[in-house]
Amino acid sequence: MINKYFFIGDDECQICKINKRLRGKKICNSCLKSLQIYNYYGKYEDLEEVLVACYYNDFIKAVVARYKFQKETYLYNIFSDLMYDCLIQNIDPSLFTYIIPIPCSKKTLRERGFNCAGLLAEALAAKLNIPYLNPLIKDHTLEQNKIELRERTKNLKGKIRLNKSFSEDLRGKRVLLVDDIITTGSTLKEAEKVLNENSASAIKILLASPSYHTITNSEV
Ligand SMILES: [Zn+2]
Repeated sequence: MINKYFFIGDDECQICKINKRLRGKKICNSCLKSLQIYNYYGKYEDLEEVLVACYYNDFIKAVVARYKFQKETYLYNIFSDLMYDCLIQNIDPSLFTYIIPIPCSKKTLRERGFNCAGLLAEALAAKLNIPYLNPLIKDHTLEQNKIELRERTKNLKGKIRLNKSFSEDLRGKRVLLVDDIITTGSTLKEAEKVLNENSASAIKILLASPSYHTITNSEV
């Protein structure tokens, strides 16, 4: 799946596309500085064992918007590099049996044409040589007009469940659960709960998240 995505020229920065002649590097120093590498591993709100590659700031917000909404899918390559670096600096990757993406609903898949987290998970799996598995499903199954009014908001959020044909594969396994950006962490928590209920444990990895430890100018 990954190979069908378009790559831009090797000698120019894959984020700004302005700075050239990078001699094999994928991003220029200016973009690298704007990314604010975090490489965090620890607790995020009430989620345990979360890895975060970058701080969430206006720069990454804009680059992720290009990836998600403007079909600049080649950016998965940069994002997965950042996540890979964060992972190997904090954890032994051989702990994981599978790499699993946070799913998106069929509706989102239709609108965007790809699962943002799925592409990152596939790229990480290839870089780490660990099998990619896509066992989670996000539903928007119920038609809104058939649901009680008080249930509608809940239904709109979508529910995550396990494709039962994968339950034996996951039993007793430790998996790496991949998402791009989180704000509240509720989707990750829901996905983790589903995996835990099926006797799998998950470490979560994110491209970026807002942090309690916001960088101040004096720390940069
Ligand atoms: Zn650049």
